[in-house]
Amino acid sequence: MIGRDLLGIEDLDREDIVRILDTAEHMVEIGEREVKKVPTLRGRTVVNLFFEASTRTRASFEIAGKRLSADVINFTPSASSLKKSESILDTARTLDAMDPDAVVVRHSVAGVPRRIADVLGAPVINAGDGAHEHPTQALLDALTVRQQKGRVEGLTVTIIGDILHSRVARSNIYAFRKLGAEVRLAAPPPMIPAGVECLGVKAYTSLREALDGADVVMALRIQNERLGGAYVPSIREYSATFGLDRAKLDFAKDDVIVMHPGPVNRGVELSHDLADHRPSVILDQVRNGVALRMAVLYLFAGRATTPGSREVAGGAG
Ligand code: ASP
Repeated sequence: MIGRDLLGIEDLDREDIVRILDTAEHMVEIGEREVKKVPTLRGRTVVNLFFEASTRTRASFEIAGKRLSADVINFTPSASSLKKSESILDTARTLDAMDPDAVVVRHSVAGVPRRIADVLGAPVINAGDGAHEHPTQALLDALTVRQQKGRVEGLTVTIIGDILHSRVARSNIYAFRKLGAEVRLAAPPPMIPAGVECLGVKAYTSLREALDGADVVMALRIQNERLGGAYVPSIREYSATFGLDRAKLDFAKDDVIVMHPGPVNRGVELSHDLADHRPSVILDQVRNGVALRMAVLYLFAGRATTPGSREVAGGAG
Protein backbone atom coordinates (compact mmCIF):
# COMPACT_ATOMS: atom_id res chain seq x y z
CA MET A 1 0.00 0.00 0.00
CA ILE A 2 3.05 2.26 0.30
CA GLY A 3 2.57 5.37 -1.81
CA ARG A 4 -1.12 4.67 -2.52
CA ASP A 5 -3.86 7.16 -1.65
CA LEU A 6 -6.62 6.22 0.79
CA LEU A 7 -9.59 8.06 -0.67
CA GLY A 8 -12.43 5.70 0.14
CA ILE A 9 -13.35 2.19 1.25
CA GLU A 10 -14.95 1.71 -2.16
CA ASP A 11 -11.41 1.46 -3.63
CA LEU A 12 -10.22 -1.19 -1.14
CA ASP A 13 -10.73 -4.90 -1.37
CA ARG A 14 -11.39 -7.22 1.55
CA GLU A 15 -7.71 -8.19 1.87
CA ASP A 16 -6.66 -4.53 2.08
CA ILE A 17 -9.16 -3.94 4.87
CA VAL A 18 -8.10 -7.02 6.82
CA ARG A 19 -4.44 -6.03 6.46
CA ILE A 20 -5.15 -2.55 7.83
CA LEU A 21 -7.14 -3.99 10.76
CA ASP A 22 -4.43 -6.56 11.56
CA THR A 23 -1.78 -3.82 11.54
CA ALA A 24 -3.99 -1.67 13.77
CA GLU A 25 -4.04 -4.50 16.34
CA HIS A 26 -0.26 -4.11 16.67
CA MET A 27 -0.73 -0.38 17.08
CA VAL A 28 -3.30 -0.94 19.86
CA GLU A 29 -0.56 -2.80 21.72
CA ILE A 30 1.84 0.14 21.32
CA GLY A 31 -0.86 2.42 22.76
CA GLU A 32 -0.99 0.25 25.89
CA ARG A 33 2.72 0.65 26.64
CA GLU A 34 4.09 3.10 29.15
CA VAL A 35 6.10 4.78 26.39
CA LYS A 36 3.66 4.98 23.51
CA LYS A 37 6.16 5.78 20.82
CA VAL A 38 8.06 3.86 18.16
CA PRO A 39 10.58 5.20 15.62
CA THR A 40 8.75 3.82 12.57
CA LEU A 41 8.15 7.15 10.79
CA ARG A 42 11.15 9.06 12.15
CA GLY A 43 12.27 11.65 9.64
CA ARG A 44 8.89 11.57 7.84
CA THR A 45 6.47 14.47 7.62
CA VAL A 46 2.69 14.18 7.86
CA VAL A 47 0.60 17.23 6.99
CA ASN A 48 -2.93 17.58 8.37
CA LEU A 49 -4.84 19.74 5.88
CA PHE A 50 -8.29 20.33 7.36
CA PHE A 51 -10.57 22.69 5.44
CA GLU A 52 -13.54 21.63 7.60
CA ALA A 53 -13.85 21.61 11.38
CA SER A 54 -12.79 18.49 13.21
CA THR A 55 -11.97 17.62 16.78
CA ARG A 56 -11.38 13.92 17.15
CA THR A 57 -10.23 13.04 13.64
CA ARG A 58 -7.56 15.72 13.52
CA ALA A 59 -6.34 15.06 17.04
CA SER A 60 -6.35 11.36 16.31
CA PHE A 61 -4.19 11.73 13.17
CA GLU A 62 -1.86 14.06 15.05
CA ILE A 63 -1.38 11.67 17.96
CA ALA A 64 -1.05 8.74 15.53
CA GLY A 65 1.72 10.49 13.58
CA LYS A 66 3.54 11.50 16.76
CA ARG A 67 3.39 7.99 18.23
CA LEU A 68 5.16 6.83 15.07
CA SER A 69 7.74 9.64 15.52
CA ALA A 70 6.70 11.52 12.37
CA ASP A 71 6.85 15.31 12.27
CA VAL A 72 3.19 16.37 12.15
CA ILE A 73 2.20 19.75 10.77
CA ASN A 74 -1.35 21.05 11.18
CA PHE A 75 -2.28 23.30 8.31
CA THR A 76 -5.62 25.10 8.69
CA PRO A 77 -6.46 27.11 5.57
CA SER A 78 -8.47 30.27 6.13
CA ALA A 79 -12.22 30.02 5.77
CA SER A 80 -12.09 32.14 2.60
CA SER A 81 -10.25 29.42 0.66
CA LEU A 82 -13.12 27.02 1.21
CA LYS A 83 -15.02 28.27 -1.81
CA LYS A 84 -12.11 28.70 -4.21
CA SER A 85 -11.11 25.40 -5.69
CA GLU A 86 -8.17 27.08 -7.40
CA SER A 87 -6.64 28.16 -4.14
CA ILE A 88 -7.13 24.66 -2.74
CA LEU A 89 -5.02 23.21 -5.54
CA ASP A 90 -2.50 26.02 -5.13
CA THR A 91 -2.28 25.15 -1.46
CA ALA A 92 -1.73 21.51 -2.38
CA ARG A 93 1.04 22.41 -4.84
CA THR A 94 2.71 24.63 -2.25
CA LEU A 95 2.61 21.79 0.26
CA ASP A 96 3.91 19.34 -2.32
CA ALA A 97 6.97 21.51 -2.86
CA MET A 98 7.77 20.98 0.84
CA ASP A 99 7.99 17.24 0.16
CA PRO A 100 5.63 15.73 2.77
CA ASP A 101 5.34 11.95 3.13
CA ALA A 102 1.56 11.97 3.61
CA VAL A 103 -1.18 14.59 3.48
CA VAL A 104 -4.39 14.04 5.45
CA VAL A 105 -7.26 16.02 3.89
CA ARG A 106 -10.72 16.95 5.15
CA HIS A 107 -13.07 19.10 3.09
CA SER A 108 -16.79 19.86 3.09
CA VAL A 109 -17.00 19.15 -0.65
CA ALA A 110 -17.02 15.55 -1.89
CA GLY A 111 -14.13 14.74 -4.22
CA VAL A 112 -11.65 17.40 -3.04
CA PRO A 113 -9.16 14.84 -1.59
CA ARG A 114 -9.11 13.11 -4.97
CA ARG A 115 -8.42 16.39 -6.79
CA ILE A 116 -5.63 17.16 -4.34
CA ALA A 117 -4.24 13.64 -4.81
CA ASP A 118 -4.06 14.32 -8.55
CA VAL A 119 -1.57 17.15 -8.04
CA LEU A 120 0.31 15.75 -5.05
CA GLY A 121 3.23 13.35 -5.13
CA ALA A 122 2.66 12.20 -1.54
CA PRO A 123 -0.12 9.78 -0.57
CA VAL A 124 -3.39 11.53 0.33
CA ILE A 125 -5.50 10.16 3.16
CA ASN A 126 -9.15 11.23 3.06
CA ALA A 127 -10.25 12.36 6.53
CA GLY A 128 -13.83 13.01 5.36
CA ASP A 129 -15.09 14.72 2.20
CA GLY A 130 -18.62 16.12 2.18
CA ALA A 131 -21.20 13.36 2.18
CA HIS A 132 -18.89 11.07 0.20
CA GLU A 133 -16.55 8.96 2.37
CA HIS A 134 -14.74 8.89 5.71
CA PRO A 135 -12.62 5.77 5.29
CA THR A 136 -10.63 5.86 8.53
CA GLN A 137 -13.87 6.19 10.53
CA ALA A 138 -15.28 3.04 8.92
CA LEU A 139 -12.01 1.18 9.48
CA LEU A 140 -11.88 2.12 13.16
CA ASP A 141 -15.53 1.06 13.45
CA ALA A 142 -14.74 -2.31 11.88
CA LEU A 143 -11.76 -2.68 14.24
CA THR A 144 -13.99 -1.95 17.23
CA VAL A 145 -16.61 -4.49 16.11
CA ARG A 146 -13.93 -7.11 15.49
CA GLN A 147 -12.50 -6.54 18.98
CA GLN A 148 -15.88 -6.61 20.69
CA LYS A 149 -17.40 -9.52 18.77
CA GLY A 150 -14.33 -11.45 17.66
CA ARG A 151 -15.47 -11.29 14.02
CA VAL A 152 -17.39 -9.16 11.54
CA GLU A 153 -18.53 -11.79 9.07
CA GLY A 154 -22.09 -12.97 9.66
CA LEU A 155 -23.02 -10.14 12.04
CA THR A 156 -26.04 -7.88 11.55
CA VAL A 157 -25.13 -4.19 11.63
CA THR A 158 -27.96 -1.63 11.77
CA ILE A 159 -27.11 1.96 10.85
CA ILE A 160 -29.71 4.50 11.98
CA GLY A 161 -30.25 8.09 10.90
CA ASP A 162 -29.23 10.59 8.29
CA ILE A 163 -27.82 8.10 5.78
CA LEU A 164 -28.28 10.51 2.87
CA HIS A 165 -25.83 13.11 4.20
CA SER A 166 -23.49 10.78 6.06
CA ARG A 167 -20.03 9.95 4.74
CA VAL A 168 -19.68 7.68 7.77
CA ALA A 169 -22.68 5.62 6.65
CA ARG A 170 -21.38 5.31 3.10
CA SER A 171 -17.90 4.17 4.17
CA ASN A 172 -19.33 1.80 6.76
CA ILE A 173 -21.70 0.24 4.24
CA TYR A 174 -18.73 -0.55 1.97
CA ALA A 175 -16.54 -1.78 4.84
CA PHE A 176 -19.07 -4.00 6.59
CA ARG A 177 -20.38 -5.46 3.33
CA LYS A 178 -16.85 -6.26 2.15
CA LEU A 179 -16.18 -7.95 5.49
CA GLY A 180 -19.28 -10.14 5.13
CA ALA A 181 -21.76 -8.50 7.54
CA GLU A 182 -25.45 -7.94 6.83
CA VAL A 183 -26.09 -4.18 6.79
CA ARG A 184 -29.49 -2.65 7.51
CA LEU A 185 -30.35 1.04 7.31
CA ALA A 186 -33.11 2.70 9.33
CA ALA A 187 -34.24 6.27 8.69
CA PRO A 188 -37.18 8.46 7.73
CA PRO A 189 -37.72 7.96 3.95
CA PRO A 190 -36.20 11.34 2.88
CA MET A 191 -32.94 10.38 4.62
CA ILE A 192 -32.52 7.13 2.69
CA PRO A 193 -30.64 7.62 -0.62
CA ALA A 194 -32.55 6.41 -3.69
CA GLY A 195 -31.24 3.08 -4.99
CA VAL A 196 -29.15 2.36 -1.89
CA GLU A 197 -30.14 -1.33 -2.16
CA CYS A 198 -27.63 -1.70 -4.99
CA LEU A 199 -24.91 -1.46 -2.32
CA GLY A 200 -26.18 -4.76 -0.91
CA VAL A 201 -28.05 -3.28 2.06
CA LYS A 202 -31.71 -3.26 3.09
CA ALA A 203 -33.45 -0.02 4.06
CA TYR A 204 -36.18 0.11 6.72
CA THR A 205 -38.49 2.87 7.84
CA SER A 206 -39.46 0.84 10.92
CA LEU A 207 -36.74 1.01 13.55
CA ARG A 208 -38.16 -2.01 15.29
CA GLU A 209 -37.77 -4.20 12.21
CA ALA A 210 -34.29 -2.88 11.51
CA LEU A 211 -33.19 -3.63 15.06
CA ASP A 212 -34.65 -7.13 15.22
CA GLY A 213 -31.76 -9.43 16.10
CA ALA A 214 -29.04 -6.80 15.44
CA ASP A 215 -25.53 -7.43 16.83
CA VAL A 216 -24.29 -3.88 16.25
CA VAL A 217 -26.28 -0.64 16.19
CA MET A 218 -24.70 2.52 14.87
CA ALA A 219 -26.48 5.84 15.42
CA LEU A 220 -25.52 8.70 13.11
CA ARG A 221 -25.44 12.39 13.90
CA ILE A 222 -28.10 14.56 12.28
CA GLN A 223 -25.94 16.48 9.78
CA ASN A 224 -27.34 19.96 10.37
CA GLU A 225 -24.61 21.56 8.24
CA ARG A 226 -25.55 19.40 5.22
CA LEU A 227 -29.33 19.21 5.55
CA GLY A 228 -30.19 22.27 3.44
CA GLY A 229 -33.93 21.51 3.59
CA ALA A 230 -36.66 19.96 5.70
CA TYR A 231 -35.92 16.24 5.90
CA VAL A 232 -37.68 15.63 9.19
CA PRO A 233 -40.77 17.42 10.53
CA SER A 234 -38.98 18.20 13.80
CA ILE A 235 -35.99 17.03 15.79
CA ARG A 236 -38.36 16.01 18.59
CA GLU A 237 -40.31 13.75 16.30
CA TYR A 238 -37.11 12.32 14.82
CA SER A 239 -35.82 11.59 18.27
CA ALA A 240 -39.07 9.93 19.37
CA THR A 241 -39.08 7.64 16.32
CA PHE A 242 -35.39 7.02 15.55
CA GLY A 243 -33.53 8.18 18.66
CA LEU A 244 -32.03 5.20 20.44
CA ASP A 245 -32.74 4.47 24.10
CA ARG A 246 -32.68 1.34 26.24
CA ALA A 247 -36.33 0.49 25.56
CA LYS A 248 -35.84 0.45 21.77
CA LEU A 249 -32.62 -1.52 22.18
CA ASP A 250 -34.67 -4.43 23.56
CA PHE A 251 -35.48 -5.41 19.95
CA ALA A 252 -31.78 -6.06 19.25
CA LYS A 253 -29.73 -9.02 20.51
CA ASP A 254 -29.00 -9.13 24.25
CA ASP A 255 -25.29 -8.59 23.66
CA VAL A 256 -25.76 -5.76 21.14
CA ILE A 257 -23.17 -2.97 21.07
CA VAL A 258 -24.01 0.68 20.34
CA MET A 259 -21.72 2.89 18.27
CA HIS A 260 -21.67 6.54 17.23
CA PRO A 261 -18.97 8.35 15.21
CA GLY A 262 -19.32 11.53 17.28
CA PRO A 263 -20.01 14.24 17.98
CA VAL A 264 -23.22 13.01 19.63
CA ASN A 265 -26.33 15.19 19.74
CA ARG A 266 -27.30 13.95 23.18
CA GLY A 267 -30.99 13.27 23.57
CA VAL A 268 -31.46 13.30 19.77
CA GLU A 269 -29.77 10.23 18.23
CA LEU A 270 -28.88 8.66 21.55
CA SER A 271 -30.35 8.99 25.04
CA HIS A 272 -27.95 10.59 27.56
CA ASP A 273 -27.71 7.30 29.38
CA LEU A 274 -26.74 5.33 26.27
CA ALA A 275 -24.22 7.94 25.18
CA ASP A 276 -22.25 7.37 28.37
CA HIS A 277 -22.70 3.75 29.35
CA ARG A 278 -22.49 0.20 28.02
CA PRO A 279 -23.50 -1.23 25.70
CA SER A 280 -22.15 1.94 24.10
CA VAL A 281 -18.55 1.53 22.86
CA ILE A 282 -18.07 5.14 21.75
CA LEU A 283 -14.88 5.70 23.72
CA ASP A 284 -13.45 2.41 22.43
CA GLN A 285 -14.07 3.78 18.93
CA VAL A 286 -12.16 6.96 19.77
CA ARG A 287 -9.29 4.97 21.32
CA ASN A 288 -9.14 2.66 18.32
CA GLY A 289 -9.10 5.70 16.04
CA VAL A 290 -5.52 6.46 17.07
CA ALA A 291 -4.31 2.89 16.51
CA LEU A 292 -6.12 2.63 13.21
CA ARG A 293 -4.66 5.90 11.93
CA MET A 294 -1.19 4.77 13.02
CA ALA A 295 -1.75 1.67 10.88
CA VAL A 296 -2.90 3.76 7.93
CA LEU A 297 0.07 6.15 8.14
CA TYR A 298 2.44 3.22 8.50
CA LEU A 299 0.98 1.27 5.59
CA PHE A 300 0.47 4.17 3.17
CA ALA A 301 3.37 6.46 4.08
CA GLY A 302 5.87 4.18 5.78
CA ARG A 303 8.73 2.05 4.62
CA ALA A 304 8.36 -1.33 2.98
CA THR A 305 8.47 -3.59 6.04
CA THR A 306 6.02 -6.32 6.95
CA PRO A 307 3.40 -5.75 9.66
CA GLY A 308 4.49 -7.32 12.93
CA SER A 309 8.17 -6.77 12.19
CA ARG A 310 10.39 -5.23 14.84
CA GLU A 311 9.82 -1.82 13.36
CA VAL A 312 6.12 -1.82 14.22
CA ALA A 313 5.71 -3.97 17.23
CA GLY A 314 9.23 -3.85 18.55
CA GLY A 315 11.58 -1.29 20.00
CA ALA A 316 10.17 1.79 21.59
CA GLY A 317 12.12 4.88 20.75
N1 ASP B 1 -17.19 12.98 12.80
C1 ASP B 1 -17.88 12.34 11.71
C2 ASP B 1 -17.60 13.03 10.40
O1 ASP B 1 -16.75 13.89 10.34
C3 ASP B 1 -19.33 12.17 11.96
C4 ASP B 1 -20.12 13.44 12.06
O2 ASP B 1 -19.59 14.54 12.01
O3 ASP B 1 -21.34 13.29 12.20
O4 ASP B 1 -18.23 12.74 9.42
